[in-house]
Amino acid sequence: MDTFRDFKRYADQVADTARWAARKGWAPATSTNYSVRLPVEAAPAICAITASGIDKDHLDSESVITIDGEGRPMNGSRLRPSAETPLHLMLYRRANVGAVLHTHSIAAALLSRSAEATGFLTFSGWELLKGLERIERHDCEVRLPVFPNSQDMAWLSAHIKPRLPEAEPCHGFLLAGHGLYVWGKTLVDAKRHLEVFEYLLQCEREVRTHGYPAGA
Ligand SMILES: [Zn+2]
Repeated sequence: MDTFRDFKRYADQVADTARWAARKGWAPATSTNYSVRLPVEAAPAICAITASGIDKDHLDSESVITIDGEGRPMNGSRLRPSAETPLHLMLYRRANVGAVLHTHSIAAALLSRSAEATGFLTFSGWELLKGLERIERHDCEVRLPVFPNSQDMAWLSAHIKPRLPEAEPCHGFLLAGHGLYVWGKTLVDAKRHLEVFEYLLQCEREVRTHGYPAGA
């Protein structure tokens, strides 16, 4: 792993993404976490992930660590990986997941609580849906699963894994009263998915609060 010379480049990408999400207002009070899958030559490292408890406004590559498939820090890092690392590792066991991003926006926290009993939110009719991989029309229905929150990450990972759709496009889920997880084949895809879902959540929140503007 020490010979994996590209690590700094991946760590910079993760740090840039964390600061970008913080600027958007999606990472309050040192919360949220971000990771990118490392190439096979980095094995046994699986991904580079933000360390726990760091303010995302100023996070740099020094606060991004590599972990193996069990979530253990590598390179002798004394930093702890995010507490939610098991969820990232669970997602990296799926095909075509190259980056995992997790945010704590107000819209995600509010709407996930309102949809916890139903188990999902549905979005339809929004042009920005086309920003999601394999979605080509605005007039389709996209379901965003909602799962109960828990501090037991092992339980949460085991609960969510079999409940994520495999056949239909699925690029994210909500944890009730907590926040949003998204992923993508690449970091660029994952960032686009994050922007799409945060935008859709804001639209949904506005509509539920104020309704559609007169004449819309
Ligand atoms: Zn969280």
